[in-house]
Amino acid sequence: MRARHAWCMTLRSQNGTDVAIVGAGIVGASVAYWLKRLDPSVPVTLIERDRSFARASSALSASSIRQQFSHPLNIRMSQFGRAFLREMDIAVEEKGYLYLGAVAPLRVLNETQRAYGADVVLLDPEEITARFPWLSVAGVEQGSLGLSGEGWFDGPALHAEVLRRARTAGAQLAEGEAQGFEQGADGRVRAVLLADGSRIECGHAVNAAGPWARALAGAAGIALPVHARRRTVFVLSCPEKLPDCPLVIDPSGFWFRPEGRYFIAGTTPNPDLDDLPLEPNHAEFDEALWSRMAQRVPAFCALRVERAWAGYYEMNLFDANAIIGAHPSAPNLWFANGFSGHGMQQAPAAGRGIAELILRGRFETLDLAPLGFQRLLDGRPLAESMIIG
Ligand SMILES: Cc1cc2nc3c(=O)[nH]c(=O)nc-3n(C[C@H](O)[C@H](O)[C@H](O)COP(=O)(O)OP(=O)(O)OC[C@H]3O[C@@H](n4cnc5c(N)ncnc54)[C@H](O)[C@@H]3O)c2cc1C
Repeated sequence: MRARHAWCMTLRSQNGTDVAIVGAGIVGASVAYWLKRLDPSVPVTLIERDRSFARASSALSASSIRQQFSHPLNIRMSQFGRAFLREMDIAVEEKGYLYLGAVAPLRVLNETQRAYGADVVLLDPEEITARFPWLSVAGVEQGSLGLSGEGWFDGPALHAEVLRRARTAGAQLAEGEAQGFEQGADGRVRAVLLADGSRIECGHAVNAAGPWARALAGAAGIALPVHARRRTVFVLSCPEKLPDCPLVIDPSGFWFRPEGRYFIAGTTPNPDLDDLPLEPNHAEFDEALWSRMAQRVPAFCALRVERAWAGYYEMNLFDANAIIGAHPSAPNLWFANGFSGHGMQQAPAAGRGIAELILRGRFETLDLAPLGFQRLLDGRPLAESMIIG
């Protein structure tokens, strides 16, 4: 600790900081929050180009949280996220996720999930019908339902609260667009370079640029396989009520859940292209969603599209899991990217993990090492079968 501060003091100039975080979405805000919580004396600057967050994934998310993952680390990270939401006083509609599918894979997943403390239950088709009589079980062998710890919440409220707490603790928010880094011969980042020609000296830099993280990594000569993939979310009204409706994951790949008096729904577009304009693709509802939704829930025959929005998933095309840690070529440039559709719930654990690496040189709470860069360099994907594309 002492060595770190002494070293950083020599680097810091008037416009300098100890940790410069590029991107103040939920991930950057969480890193700043944990840094200040673990060491209130550490200077932290968040660099954000758009303080309205109009295009940030954190403002355009479905903001749901689940424990139904296949990899124990993803389960643990989301459990950490659930506890953090409680601490931040953000209410969660704990209606659960209902995965519909085949018996064998859901049984195996259920064993892992329960071994790691997830409150999930397997349901056969008759039990599904008894709980959710409005749902058709055609083609469904098994359901997996989260009984607690799963549901949805106000994502922008969480983001605002974490950012507020980080700033109250002293983190600075600087408006500007990071274009690259000044690096020493050893690869270490010395400063973040901004589009207006200014620079922010730092002892550490963090890439929390969400769907735009690849460009920033590229500026440091690092290939980050994180791509901005547009997802359209439809806001739908249905004349019939669906009592106790959870977030339903259909075997064909679409999802829906209640949102106040409406429902929201989405699916993976095909083809799934990079960097499409952030405008909803209205055709997706007619072409890819409506008939499948009406087959699963007959009352959805009468669905009406109220509106739609689009946001970017930050898809890690290597293995659809987060990339957390540094690349060996730039040991003080930290990555927290590529959450591939589960970044709202994982941001608390990721932020704490990055803060621990910076301040203490190791993970102390959750060992996030399996999510490090090394797996990409070794060509060893982290297997997670429960990705909602
Ligand atoms: C439709 C949709 C549904 C989702 N549903 C869920 C869900 O149910 N549950 C869940 O857990 N997750 C979900 N996600 C994923 C989750 O929203 C994201 O993983 C998370 O918000 C990513 O946060 P972030 O801070 O990394 O990125 P962002 O929120 O995008 O923030 C990145 C910030 O960096 C800034 N920035 C980028 N480049 C620069 C630069 N060069 N200089 C300065 N600033 C820069 C941007 O302006 C932006 O504000 C969903 C995402 C979408 C789009």
